[in-house]
Amino acid sequence: MNDVLLSVQELWVSYGNIKAIHGISFDVHEGEIVTLIGANGAGKSSTLRAISGLIPYTGKILYKGQELRKISADKIVGMGIAQVPEGRGIFGNLTVLENLKLATWQRKDKPEIARDFERVFGIFPRLQERRNQLGGTLSGGEQQMLAVARALMSRGKMVLLDEPSMGLAPVLVREIFRIIGEINQSGTTVLLVEQNANMALRAANRGYVLETGNITLSGTGAELLGNPRVKEAYLGG
Ligand code: ATP
Repeated sequence: MNDVLLSVQELWVSYGNIKAIHGISFDVHEGEIVTLIGANGAGKSSTLRAISGLIPYTGKILYKGQELRKISADKIVGMGIAQVPEGRGIFGNLTVLENLKLATWQRKDKPEIARDFERVFGIFPRLQERRNQLGGTLSGGEQQMLAVARALMSRGKMVLLDEPSMGLAPVLVREIFRIIGEINQSGTTVLLVEQNANMALRAANRGYVLETGNITLSGTGAELLGNPRVKEAYLGG
């Protein structure tokens, strides 16, 4: 297996008296798609927020061996960890083009950016058509595409995706998962948080099941898909 790119060790997250994450540990290796699946409130988003430097935590999060705790959220993005937050995190009052341009702010390879616009518009022709439309006026599915496209434009070495399939029609869910595969094929390591366990486990090399702040199962995507407990709790029997 390739080198560990991201290592989460004994992560605890609390909101006041509520302990959301209870000392979880997991690794993501370079080139993998790893998924965290779990029900509402299991702590999936909190895990991603901790990695992104958006909330305080105890325990260690290492990226390429470097501890992230004291590093600010914007520097973490600059280190190559791109984020697609739940609820999309796009700028509604900026156009599609402006949203995409903003995602490149930390990049130093300016000449490559024009090429990436072509690549992203190749993947998402709908966004190219609507490049001058305000983000807030896009449909839900288009906004989700824009959020994923922003992560592509930031050219992260790693991308954190928080429920990219949320609220999308089945045909778009398949499209988003196809694109996640494509992003991964082009060399980006993916940490994917999903309630859609079926699609996520099919796409992932490995997965972890998060239940009320604890990791209760782990394995390859195929192992988890075949696990009776996963089937019963997350795959509709
Ligand atoms: P969902 O799929 O519903 O988004 P999740 O697995 O991403 O769920 P989290 O959003 O990480 O779960 O929430 C984990 C727990 O922490 C939940 O019990 C939630 O109510 C609590 N929590 C999350 N954010 C806060 C906050 N800002 N203040 C207080 N409690 C919070």
